[in-house]
Amino acid sequence: MPKHIIFNANQIEWIESNLDSMTLSDMAKELDVCVDTFKRKLVKLGLKDFDGAKFVPPRDFNAAYWRRPCMRCKGTDRRPKNQFICSRCKQTDYEYL
Ligand SMILES: [Zn+2]
Repeated sequence: MPKHIIFNANQIEWIESNLDSMTLSDMAKELDVCVDTFKRKLVKLGLKDFDGAKFVPPRDFNAAYWRRPCMRCKGTDRRPKNQFICSRCKQTDYEYL
């Protein structure tokens, strides 16, 4: 499992200002992360693009949605996965609260 790395604002600023002057492996060493993790992080932060699909973050829009019938009205409007009730029914819920 790759370690989950979160850079703080200072680190991100440091990365941005050194991105052109330092090598990625030197920067990764400085930040104490492995260079592959660092590259993925850069892509995620939108600081750098790499050729090669390996570092392209998944952009499968449809993967995050489903058309499972709503538990209330059986409607099949597209909604985020794990949301079992459609937005309309949810809205109704709020109105009764
Ligand atoms: Zn519904």
